[in-house]
Order: sequence, then structure tokens, then C-alpha cells
Amino acid sequence: MEGDNMSYTALYRKWRPNIFEEIIGQKHIVDTLKNQIKNNSIAHAYLFNGTRGTGKTTIARVFSRAINCENRKEYNPCNECDICLGSINETLMDIIEIDAASNNGVDNIRELRENIKYPPSKAKYKVYIIDEVHMLSQGAFNALLKILEEPPSYVVFILATTELHKIPDTIHSRCQTYSFKRVTQKDIKDRMKFILESMNIEYEDKALDVVIKKGEGAVRDSLSLLDMCISASENGILYEEVMNVLGLSNEELYYDIVNAIIKNDPLNLMKKVELVFNEGKNIVYFLKDLIMYLRNILLLKTSEELKSILDLPNEEIERLLELSKNISSNNLLRIIEILIDRDNSMKYSNNARVSLEITLLKALNSNFELSLSSLVDRVEKLEKKHKNLESQNISFNKEIKTNNLKSNEPDCAKESKIENLEILETENKSIKISKREEVENEALDDNNDIDKFKIILDNWDATLNYIKKYKIAIHAFLIEGMPKYIENNNLIIGFDEKFGFHLNAIEKKENKDIIEKVIYKQHGIKINILPKFNNDINGVEINKINEKEIKDEVKEFFKNYEDKLEIIE
Ligand SMILES: [Zn+2]
Repeated sequence: MEGDNMSYTALYRKWRPNIFEEIIGQKHIVDTLKNQIKNNSIAHAYLFNGTRGTGKTTIARVFSRAINCENRKEYNPCNECDICLGSINETLMDIIEIDAASNNGVDNIRELRENIKYPPSKAKYKVYIIDEVHMLSQGAFNALLKILEEPPSYVVFILATTELHKIPDTIHSRCQTYSFKRVTQKDIKDRMKFILESMNIEYEDKALDVVIKKGEGAVRDSLSLLDMCISASENGILYEEVMNVLGLSNEELYYDIVNAIIKNDPLNLMKKVELVFNEGKNIVYFLKDLIMYLRNILLLKTSEELKSILDLPNEEIERLLELSKNISSNNLLRIIEILIDRDNSMKYSNNARVSLEITLLKALNSNFELSLSSLVDRVEKLEKKHKNLESQNISFNKEIKTNNLKSNEPDCAKESKIENLEILETENKSIKISKREEVENEALDDNNDIDKFKIILDNWDATLNYIKKYKIAIHAFLIEGMPKYIENNNLIIGFDEKFGFHLNAIEKKENKDIIEKVIYKQHGIKINILPKFNNDINGVEINKINEKEIKDEVKEFFKNYEDKLEIIE
């Protein structure tokens, strides 16, 4: 297996375009560059500007190869000569790629200035491709400007950026600037079809639509996700499987949920939530997609003309229109706000189900007052959940011990008594909640691992975002897991049983390395990533989080009904 991993080449790498005709979209840029090659009118500096995944570095590579190729075919590189092969294998010293995000200092650019003095070793031009060039420091930009003011005849710079406004005018004005357009879904799809057909892999058309939607229009991201789907499925790229692998929910479910909200039907609403969980859907994606679904209804409510920008099948538009007629814009806005609010905290929730249920119940129509009996029902359900958790080895009102992992120190224990919720129905039908003060032992504050863990957990969202920008496939695997605790300098990431595929992917060294590096870069914490199934995890640390979670949920739930409640501190 090790050998397989070593020889594995990611899809987007393997199918990286080698000639201009294989490049997706950007015809306006490709045509201009082709002409420059044919007419031998190469500029000294180019600035490629465009969002992620629009082909900036891909075009830079083909272009730099074409201007240096020994057997150029009109304007395309031959991809067979020494120069081309050296460029493809990344062994040629004359085509240099620099990631400005990690080489952004003055020293890096000074080094480059030294390097530039020497003419190319083999090729005609020495090409510097500087990616994410907006990340350079002010000093580095100044040093770069000095080079651009008097570039040696053999040097070509290709600067790529996603944030043109961060490039100093002095640099910008010395470059030929090209703006890359977002690649259309059709172009990405054509490329995917070409790749799948070349690999003899069967596919369903609508499955590809899902992958592209998830890749948010970026070619590389879409191909990475396609790669993930290929390795997860044996029978080709099928819609149902793609939905499962990417943890997506289908449109029908959103329709049913919104319909239940409109009809003030909590029973049906809860049944749908059950479905979401039984099918093992990713709650974070689910909530985001539900918000998008409501946003689409709101757009159509504003004007039916807007259906042209929605890019959805007609039957789906019809259903959205139907829903839009039964709900006011104000109410839609209110629901979207509730969900967005929840979206931000949902990913940390160890009781995602309770969170989702409560959030959706809150979203029920504003003129719908929770009756006392339904309130009692909910409380009973919450109580039941407490009991369920208890039976899963989670103790309430019991001493919870956490072993201090430092061997030279005595074990320290945390004694925590969580609020004792007694729900009493009184004569006047109000509900009393009594809670006892939490007793905490201060000793835990010294526990280094818990501090570290808290930092990592509190910033997990940022970590995921960082990784997403770096490599979306790792993000898609990692989002199904959750940091659980730190033990022997291992950060345990818990996965549900059904996400074994995702767990295995995170276990791979190259993926772990990236996550570890990101955490180190963010917090200066050196830690090993250790994915585990939730069932295999020693419960102690999770229990603590679960308790807090439940407490917060209960507080949150009753917040809006304080007038009906008497809370005994
Ligand atoms: Zn060549």
C-alpha cells in the first residue's frame, strides 16, 4: 500500500494542461499569449489576477515552457525536449516557482536578486513564477521593484495574485496585467467528462454538477473533489454516492423542512431532522445549504425575474416559487438570521442534533407560540437525552477526574458538579428550574494540554478555512471530524463510524503533515494528529464538553421563555 501512495498522483496534477488547447476557459488571455509567442514579443513582467482555481499558474507553466522549448510547435511547447521535460519534472533550474505566502521577506527577494545575475543555465529565458505575490512584505516589494526597473534581458516574471488591490502601483504599472475570469460550470464539466472518459470511468451527469457546485467554480478544487469521489466509489461517479461522500443533502429534504416551518408543523420538522441524522449527513454543510435554499426563496419572493440568476432546474424553481407564496419576506429574513447565527457555532457542537432541533424550532413562524405542553415535551426530551448520555458513560453530578499527563506532577483532578436541573410542574403551571452552582477545582488551570486544546478548539474554524485554501480535499475529510482532546502530545480527532473513509484519509502522513503545519503556523503548537473513531475514544474529555453543551442548550432554549419560567439560582 505504501508504494501505491507514493506513486499516486492527484488528478489535477496528472491532468494538468500541457498545451494551450487543454486550458479551460480564459480564451482572451490564451489568444494574446499565443500571439506573443508566435511574434516573439515576450514582455519582462506579467501580472495574472483572478480568483482561486481560474488557471493562473497553469497558464504560467505552459507559457514559460513554450517560450523556452527547443522544438516549439507553432506556439505550443513540444513537451518532449529536455527543457520541456525538465519543466514538467520540476528539475529545470531556469523555471523557478516561488510561493510568496511562505517566502515573503526582504531576504528572499535579495536572494532572488543574487540569483537573477546569472543567465539561464539551459533555457533561453529565466522565468520566475511568483504565486500569491500580494503576500510579499513592503521591503520585499521594494526589492522586487528594483529588479523590475532594470530587468536583465533573459528574465521573465509572472506574478500571480488573487488580490490585485494589494499590489503596489509601482509594480502593477511595470507589468502586463491579465484578468482571469471565473471558469464556467460548463467548461469545468467538459474537462471532467474528458478526464473520466479517458480513464474509462462511468458517470452520471448530475453527479458532476454536484461536484462542481461543491468546488465553487474552482477547477483545481473541483478536480480534487472528483478525485475523492473516484477513490471512494467502485461503480463510477454516481449521484447518490457523491452526495454521500461529500456529505450533501438533497433538495427534497430542504423543501420538506421549509414547508414544515411554514406550516408550523414541529412534528414533521423533527421527523426530518431525524432523517438528516439517520442518513449521516454533514450538519455544517446541511445548515449552509438550508440557508442557501431559504435565500433562493427570498430572491424569488423579491422578484420572479431573479430566477435567471439562480441557475437551477425548472422544477426546483417551481417548488421554490410555491414556498415563497406562503411565507412573508420578513419571516424569511428572520429565519435566515436565526440559522446564520447558529451556523457559526454548530460545528463545535457535540450535541449537533439538539442544537439543530432547537434552532429549527425557533425558526417556526413567529406568530406560533410554543404551548406549555409542547414546552414540557421538549424538556422531557432533553431530560431523556441526558439519560441517554448518562448510559453512554457520561456522568452528571458525579466527580469527573482528568489525569494530568505530566509524569513529574501528581495527578490532579477536576471536581465538577454540573447544574442539577430539576424540572417541576407547579400548581400555576409555571416551570421551575433549580440549579446548583458548579464547583470547580482551580488546579486544572495549570494543565498545559487542556490550555492547548482549548486554543486549538476555539480556532478550529480558522484552521479548517486555512486548510481549505491550501488543499480542499483535506478540508473535506477533516470537516467530518472534531478535535476531542490532547493525549501524549497527540491531538485526537474523533470521527463517527460512518466516516471511516475520511478517517483513513486523515491518517495518511502527507495529510497529517499539512494539518500539523497549519496548527503550528497558527498557534506555535507542535502536535501530532491522531484520528480515532468516536467509539474508541476514552470518554473523559468529551463528557466535559457534552455537559457544557447541554447546559448551554438548555439555557439557550429557555432564554426566550423566561416570562413563563421561574428560574431558581
Ligand atoms: Zn519542448
